[in-house]
Amino acid sequence: MQKKCLFLLCTVLVWTLLFCACCPAGAEVTVDVVSGSVPFLVNKDHPVAEDFVPAGLIPLKGNTDEKLITLKYKDLTAVREAVDALNEMLDAAAADGVKNWKINAAYRSIAEQQRVLENKISSTLKDHPGWSRSRARTHALNTVAEPCCSEHHLGLAIDITAKGASAFKGTKQCKWLHAHCWDYGFIIRYQEGKQAITGFAAEEWHIRYVGVEHALAMRDQDLCLEEYLETLPEDETGARMEIEEITPEDLGL
Ligand SMILES: [Zn+2]
Repeated sequence: MQKKCLFLLCTVLVWTLLFCACCPAGAEVTVDVVSGSVPFLVNKDHPVAEDFVPAGLIPLKGNTDEKLITLKYKDLTAVREAVDALNEMLDAAAADGVKNWKINAAYRSIAEQQRVLENKISSTLKDHPGWSRSRARTHALNTVAEPCCSEHHLGLAIDITAKGASAFKGTKQCKWLHAHCWDYGFIIRYQEGKQAITGFAAEEWHIRYVGVEHALAMRDQDLCLEEYLETLPEDETGARMEIEEITPEDLGL
């Protein structure tokens, strides 16, 4: 009887180990975020899945020009297409005499976003000792996204500032970026006057790669990403067309 029990126990153990090896908890789902004709939308109403990971992440260190860019963290990563566009853009800026950039953030995992939000709640509570945690959380969410709702999860958003400047707004780097980023496929994602739509206060430093055609269309029509996506064609049932179904002609490009 004892032998039978031991055999049963071993069988269960082996199957458990096999199952765990085949189906690791929290397995990532890799998503190609640059395929398709329509930019991928992430905001408070459009979170990514908890196991979402963008395909094609590469380290910024070694793939960007360290003479032009200082990295706040050595392990920053972003999707290759965004890094290529960033390099092209900052080479052009350097040709215009604008250098000394600093990158504070790029791809952020969902666990990292949770830590960023917790840190913001803690610092808010320190600044306002009388506040409840839920009030501090609501306040923090004006500037920090909920986990799964940050555009940084896509690996296409970059927080870029001027090295050594206490505030980015008003610097020559900021002026250059806002004038030229569109030509390289980046948008200034959170702008003045769009807070009610994007859910975020203006962030002069947060750029999002969407590709040149979309970036120029948004610039020329003064549309944020949410507004721009609303202008895209619908199919005969009135539903927004699937990304794969949309051609540049549908977009009027
Ligand atoms: Zn950002």
